[in-house]
Amino acid sequence: MKALGPIPEGFEALDGELAIGGRTASALAAEAGRTPLFVYSADRLKARVASLRSAMPDRLRIHYAMKANPFAPVLAVMRELVDGFDIASGGELVLAQAAGFPTERTSFAGPGKRDEELEAAILAGVTLNCESEGEGRRALAIADRIGTAPRIAIRVNPDFELRGSGMKMGGGAKPFGVDADRVPGLARELVSGGAIWRGLHIYTGSQALDADAIIDAQANVLDCAARLSEQIGEPLVHLNMGGGFGIPYFDKDEPLDIARVGAALEERFASLPAILADTEFAIELGRYLVGEAGVYLTRIVDRKVSHDTTYLITDGGLHHQLAASGNFGTVVRRNYPVAIATRFDAQPDEVVNVVGCLCTPLDRLADKALLPAADVGDLVAVFCAGAYGATASPAAFLGQGPAVEMLV
Ligand SMILES: *Cc1c(COP(=O)(O)O)cnc(C)c1O
Repeated sequence: MKALGPIPEGFEALDGELAIGGRTASALAAEAGRTPLFVYSADRLKARVASLRSAMPDRLRIHYAMKANPFAPVLAVMRELVDGFDIASGGELVLAQAAGFPTERTSFAGPGKRDEELEAAILAGVTLNCESEGEGRRALAIADRIGTAPRIAIRVNPDFELRGSGMKMGGGAKPFGVDADRVPGLARELVSGGAIWRGLHIYTGSQALDADAIIDAQANVLDCAARLSEQIGEPLVHLNMGGGFGIPYFDKDEPLDIARVGAALEERFASLPAILADTEFAIELGRYLVGEAGVYLTRIVDRKVSHDTTYLITDGGLHHQLAASGNFGTVVRRNYPVAIATRFDAQPDEVVNVVGCLCTPLDRLADKALLPAADVGDLVAVFCAGAYGATASPAAFLGQGPAVEMLV
């Protein structure tokens, strides 16, 4: 038997079934008209942002990194909750604009921005988080041609990283950001070239559950930002401090202690160096805001036994749940939180493998999982499905196509 990940708090049974937004899994599947489906809870999104705000200093702005979940109805909810959107492509710019998010509170990071993307962002007044000298110069040339001053921040490739982070994005050679020692020179060049200076972006990693690791990374980010601003010779207008707040996906993962992170940041904010005294500070979060608000529901289409192992075969799989299948940046596959949604309050009594419908051994949703006995027609729930599910999975693989998405 292998343990399942922890089901996020607050999911309850209604008529014996998992309920989301006050509706049972089978009612939601009936409304969708087909399975699999992603269900996102607006109430959970709101509660999440509210609890985060109460833990963080008032001065800290909260940005949503929309690559975690760009579903339009989710963006419409997030628009009312957060202070900024962070985008990572021209496609996401279109989605952010369609969601009616103010472009002057949108910033655009990501390596390899094409000229068309830079132009669209400059025209829209989005802040470019500049990833290289070459990109900065292209942005200036485009701005010159279209006669619009570009709002530019520099993404720093810092000399440190977020300890214990799921995906390391700082420290050493990286395709992201400008090496710290070259930032002051580029900043001066961009400003004298006509850019509106929007400060620094320092992203150190993601999916950290250890408050101390985040506290250390934030302290390093503030020190680095102060040092670079001294070298640039201007007070810092805006600092995107990165994010990296993780959520528990696996057995023994503990939720991040945001109260501690917030208290430490409050303390740092109380004793800032002069060059950061008037800085606007922001964190950018993806999965922390939306991950636990989403559930993936997939129907069991077959139940079979092979060499004494019971398989529950579902109509979903890695084409919607690449991360849960263990194929999105994980070294050792572990089980996500999974349940039989239509028997949510039943006692677990058999060990089964839950798999998807793709013809590949990679397509696993839960290995050797202890679950209530389930059969064809039952719905399986995969939790933590609100981030990096629908859009971070190869939906076209094997001709399957996308899942239904619903906000309730
Ligand atoms: C992906 C990404 C994020 C969001 O990461 P999460 O782990 O979902 O919070 C934030 N900022 C940058 C620069 C990113 O690349």
